[in-house]
Amino acid sequence: MNTQPLVGLVGWRGMVGSVLMARMRAEGDFALIEPRFFSTSNAGGAAPAEAKNERTLFDAHDLAALQQCEVIITAQGGDYTQAVYGPLREAGWKGYWIDAAKTLRMADDAVIVLDPVNRPVIEDALVRGVRNYIGSNCTVSCMLMGVGALYKAGLVEWMQTSTYQAASGGGAPNMRELLTQYGSLHAGVADLLADPASAILEIDRRVTATQRGFSAEETRHFRGVPLGGNLIPWIDADRGDGTSLEEWKGGAETNKIMGFGRPGSPATVPVDSTCVRIGSMRCHSQSLTFKLKRDVPLADIEALIAADNAWVKVVPNERVATEQQLNAAQVAGTLTIPVGRLRKLAMGPQYLGAFTIGDQLLWGAAEPLRRMLRILLDAR
Ligand code: NAP
Repeated sequence: MNTQPLVGLVGWRGMVGSVLMARMRAEGDFALIEPRFFSTSNAGGAAPAEAKNERTLFDAHDLAALQQCEVIITAQGGDYTQAVYGPLREAGWKGYWIDAAKTLRMADDAVIVLDPVNRPVIEDALVRGVRNYIGSNCTVSCMLMGVGALYKAGLVEWMQTSTYQAASGGGAPNMRELLTQYGSLHAGVADLLADPASAILEIDRRVTATQRGFSAEETRHFRGVPLGGNLIPWIDADRGDGTSLEEWKGGAETNKIMGFGRPGSPATVPVDSTCVRIGSMRCHSQSLTFKLKRDVPLADIEALIAADNAWVKVVPNERVATEQQLNAAQVAGTLTIPVGRLRKLAMGPQYLGAFTIGDQLLWGAAEPLRRMLRILLDAR
């Protein structure tokens, strides 16, 4: 690539895209590229302030305009990737495709990018001429940023995770729906809350009645179920075998990121998940259970995790530190990945418990894409 490569940005105003833009601004990435901004809804409109020579929005379905880009970064979503990627390659485009959507993740000619965890896999792919670099499932990225050290050290025999995933994982309308529901729940009991003598069971009864009485429109984005004051233990498609697609991704993507192989191949590590949507705004949290291949002292495990990357932070397994440092509101909007509740379990010395939290819009989506762009720029 020459200096100031033409980099196409698609999906830059969505939720992941906005976080990506903010991080690119913060890290000075726009100084290194000639950005070309695309839109599926506003072609010809004004490009954002980061535009240099090309100050209007291009049509995100304009293959000729896309083909001129050396790199395309898209956070537009899977339908867009499905519609545009194939025709673009068939038209002979040889550029680098960096994508937040799941569509291409498991393709043989694609690498899932999380460079603090799998830089060697990325480097190897670049040497082999791989052109597709796809962001991982948000829950998987955040988990591996926290405890990837255990996988790198070859210590994990299997892992089981129960997740606590925020409304924002579903997109901006889901966050709005959640907050609107909280507002309705509060409004329905405001008079009782104002009276210290009111009966708590009456407050509870009214809240439950409001939850059950929400209309289809008020619960549209979580498929007719209220999330405000509630939880939903199913995320993404039903695979028909008792697992959700989100749960399948936990195993398939963890193993692909680590370079262990595809589902079913002998070198893979079994990963089982129960993925749960909870009524929090941002950040995906996970309770992890590991069976390790051998009994490793807890202090060694803590040291291994703490030394793995610049963002992971081991939280002492004690009450005050956990309450204050290991909660979603504390982590939201930051790149810090706290890992706490580290302890050996009653099942035996090879069994390890842990809890981790990550901002699923940062390490779970935008940051690995941004860093992949920098890897490409550094390799020029
Ligand atoms: P999103 O917020 O719905 O944005 C996607 C596109 O919707 C935007 O680029 C924009 O395209 C269009 N749009 C329509 N109305 C909009 C409005 N009022 N404000 C902003 N954009 C609007 O989707 P997302 O949550 O960022 O997800 C994008 C991709 O990232 C998906 O493949 C998703 O699976 C993946 N991902 C999401 C997360 C997460 O936590 N949300 C995490 C990891 C991966 P135009 O500008 O072209 O109209």
